[in-house]
Amino acid sequence: MTRVDVAVVGSGPNGLAAAVTMARAGLTVHVHEQAPTLGGGLRGEALFDSRVRHDLCAAVHPMAAASAFFREFDLPARGVGLLRPPIAYAHPLDGGRAAFAHHDLATTCDRLGPDGQRWHRLMAPLVRHSRGVTDLLLSGQRSLPRDLSAPLLLGTRVLGQLLHGNGLRTEAARALLTGVAAHAVGRLPSPPSAAIALLLGHLAHATGWPLPEGGSIRIAEALADDLHAHGGVVHTGHRISRLAELDARVIMLDTAPNGLLALAGDRLPPRYARALRRFRYGPGAAKADFLVSEPIPWADPEVGRAGTVHLGGTRAETVAAENATVRGEPVDDPFVLVVDPAVTDPTRAVGGRRPVWAYAHVPNGDTRDPVPLITRRIERYAPGFADTVVAARGVPAAEYETYNPNYPGGDIGAGALTLKQSLFRPLPAWNPYRTPLPGVYLCSASTPPGPSVHGMCGHLAARAALRDEFHITTAPSLRPRDGVPPTDTARRAS
Ligand SMILES: Cc1cc2nc3c(=O)[nH]c(=O)nc-3n(C[C@H](O)[C@H](O)[C@H](O)COP(=O)(O)OP(=O)(O)OC[C@H]3O[C@@H](n4cnc5c(N)ncnc54)[C@H](O)[C@@H]3O)c2cc1C
Repeated sequence: MTRVDVAVVGSGPNGLAAAVTMARAGLTVHVHEQAPTLGGGLRGEALFDSRVRHDLCAAVHPMAAASAFFREFDLPARGVGLLRPPIAYAHPLDGGRAAFAHHDLATTCDRLGPDGQRWHRLMAPLVRHSRGVTDLLLSGQRSLPRDLSAPLLLGTRVLGQLLHGNGLRTEAARALLTGVAAHAVGRLPSPPSAAIALLLGHLAHATGWPLPEGGSIRIAEALADDLHAHGGVVHTGHRISRLAELDARVIMLDTAPNGLLALAGDRLPPRYARALRRFRYGPGAAKADFLVSEPIPWADPEVGRAGTVHLGGTRAETVAAENATVRGEPVDDPFVLVVDPAVTDPTRAVGGRRPVWAYAHVPNGDTRDPVPLITRRIERYAPGFADTVVAARGVPAAEYETYNPNYPGGDIGAGALTLKQSLFRPLPAWNPYRTPLPGVYLCSASTPPGPSVHGMCGHLAARAALRDEFHITTAPSLRPRDGVPPTDTARRAS
């Protein structure tokens, strides 16, 4: 293998963001991916019917629309359409009722009745300061925010959520906000879940909660195309087992701490290795993919206009289920997220068949087949759903790790979002990306700012490595280059 400037292990959004950033700084970059195809959490596949593609992990991308990395990378300018559903997310309740977060804040407030004004007071200032709020929460948390009102706006609202649920009184509004907080896949209420509720909640009314036209893999392809255009190479289908396999000046690991421990063997200083072993993984996700013959028959048909649907019932029910899950207790009615991508992107439905993406929050390492669990959950709010299912496949939480070693026990956040691990990820350090091994950096969702497809962990780790290892202090431009024809990643990946 020829010596390169940078070897990246893992081609998830963070691995690719690191690779793009470093290739654009003029370095030779090779990415190594164990799976047969690139993309990590962005992968998609035709599971049952060769014409219908399913997102195997991530499906909805508020963070990719809003993060500083992707704002500059500019997915739409590269032909990746970010399709925004008019209703970002819906939260059905029993008796055919539902609450809705429209992209349009005013419509949301109108429909929340007595809580409309309170929702407006909660979200409108965040929407006005959206860039500052997003950049603060999707940062390395080691520099002063550019928009100084962002920490104040967030701080008061996080506190308000912990003390009195931001003053929301109606069951619909309380459930709506709790459903977004549940994206933290952790204890409710808690400071990290409140911060996530505010970040994702306000983005619904700012950049929206878009789906990439054609599926999440389009994002990975755009990143890999840019990498190729700047001389980078992606090797797929080969798992790196030891760091010594890589002949590179710098190694960027798009892995969880367990991956670093395995790759480094006994090379890590014992204290650092012990701290990595203490890193906690959170509850698991149990994923179900359905091939269905018609749109989901929601009891309230308007739920069928939403990009994402949260199935958690009332605030009290969601809190009880999430907290039991954190404690490792399996519940029969777990929190479930559902997406029917063809609602937003009609190209996803082919020949009268469409994919339905869903996952349940379950205890870490849970072995239950999620298909009956999730089917029952959807049936509660959409009676008749089971009759539309042509084929289904479940991935229990315990099996996710086989598919992607970054998800131990099914923890798709690559590390629990506790307060400590939101601030210190994977361990307390001024530069959390650098490891004690010379030239070896962590760049996965196990580093700040944590999970989701925003590319910021990879980008910030790459900036740290550029500065410390190559003395490159100027941020490379990420903008689409005029005149570089898009390449076809799917064909070029070896
Ligand atoms: C079911 C599910 C639903 C999700 N939904 C959303 C969503 O809707 N929106 C959103 O923003 N996020 C979502 N996420 C989370 C999101 O996918 C992750 O946070 C994100 O992909 C993390 O990116 P990453 O680059 O850190 O790691 P990953 O995307 O996990 O990529 C890591 C890559 O490294 C590879 N790898 C690891 N070890 C090795 C090795 N030793 N050798 C070679 N390759 C290796 C893995 O195979 C993998 O491809 C979801 C995740 C799952 C699983």
